[in-house]
Amino acid sequence: MSQEHADKAGFETRAIHAGYEPDPTTGAVIPPIFATSTYKQDGVGGLRGGYEYSRSANPTRTALEGALAAVEEGERGFAFASGLAAEDTLVRTVCRPGDHVVFPDDAYGGTHRLFAKVEAAWGLGLTTAPVSDPDAVRAAIRPGETKLVWLETPTNPLLNIGDIEAIAAVAHDAGALLVVDNTFATPYLQQPLTLGADVVVHSTTKYVGGHSDVVGGALVVRDLELAEQVAFHQNAIGAVSGPFDAFLTHRGLKTLGVRMDRHCDNAEAVVEFLAAHPAVGSVIYPGLPEHPGHDVASRQMKRYGGMVSFRVTGGEEQALRVCDRARVFTLGESLGGVESLIEHPGRMTHASVAGTDLEVPADLVRLSVGIETAADLIADLDHALG
Ligand SMILES: *Cc1c(COP(=O)(O)O)cnc(C)c1O
Repeated sequence: MSQEHADKAGFETRAIHAGYEPDPTTGAVIPPIFATSTYKQDGVGGLRGGYEYSRSANPTRTALEGALAAVEEGERGFAFASGLAAEDTLVRTVCRPGDHVVFPDDAYGGTHRLFAKVEAAWGLGLTTAPVSDPDAVRAAIRPGETKLVWLETPTNPLLNIGDIEAIAAVAHDAGALLVVDNTFATPYLQQPLTLGADVVVHSTTKYVGGHSDVVGGALVVRDLELAEQVAFHQNAIGAVSGPFDAFLTHRGLKTLGVRMDRHCDNAEAVVEFLAAHPAVGSVIYPGLPEHPGHDVASRQMKRYGGMVSFRVTGGEEQALRVCDRARVFTLGESLGGVESLIEHPGRMTHASVAGTDLEVPADLVRLSVGIETAADLIADLDHALG
């Protein structure tokens, strides 16, 4: 689809068509998997379509990158081997030793580990702050040193909400860039670049891929100059998405809208069930009016997503038992696939943050609500809690 059409088209049309025109020689409707590392040149430097070597660019990846930029309403998209590879590339593009980053106090554990254990050793300062409080984010900024304000919203696994517009203003006042990890919300529910963010990060392993069959990451940026710098680092560091992975991720992206609507429908049904169950102490979901981030979420999200967390009244022992007893919900890490997953963050995804500011309650259970039949999901939870 041409850029001009893409700019005007609706979300689903962009997800399906942006980034690729049917192949001029064969008419292939879907971007082929270009399993090639190098490209024939027509005379020295005579590149066909700019392709030279597949770390620098590969047509299967180019198609995905164009579609990612279009759904996030950014200038350019970049696809990486994983979400963490995307994050690391961004940090090394923007930060130098001695610089400082403000970071959510309940971020994804792997992102925290990347900053605290890897980037810190290269001289990057780190201060955590609650994303739900723009004043606390402002107070955590070190004028002149803070280059990035990192935001996840909703956060993982406590589903706290950060006000993207307000925190963008805080970051920009200090001359820092605002980065939003949009993995949980997805571009279907929330478009941070339209709310003032400078960069969107994704673990495309999750909802964008959507079928638990590929690991990948993405960056989408708004500013062309920053895009040039990210492009340089993507190639210079080399943690790119391979053509097979890019193909699967792109296939997933096409159905993101319909999948997210079903994820949200099912999550709402599960929340209603859990809220009425005597063994459940509290349900954490931004769609609930009593959730502290509900108003901000209603302003910046189309719906509230497929992730639900809850605390049980019987402590850690019961939380572990619920995870073990579930049958339709598969016990496992990760999220965002068509199948429902259940996990115990304290012992699983967030075990690496035990003893830090990011430690999560031991009686917490996290659900990635899939797109199966809602009644089966509820019956399964009823059994697991019983
Ligand atoms: C999974 C995840 C990441 C890391 O992505 P990988 O693809 O596993 O490297 C980053 N942020 C969030 C919110 C995630 O859920």
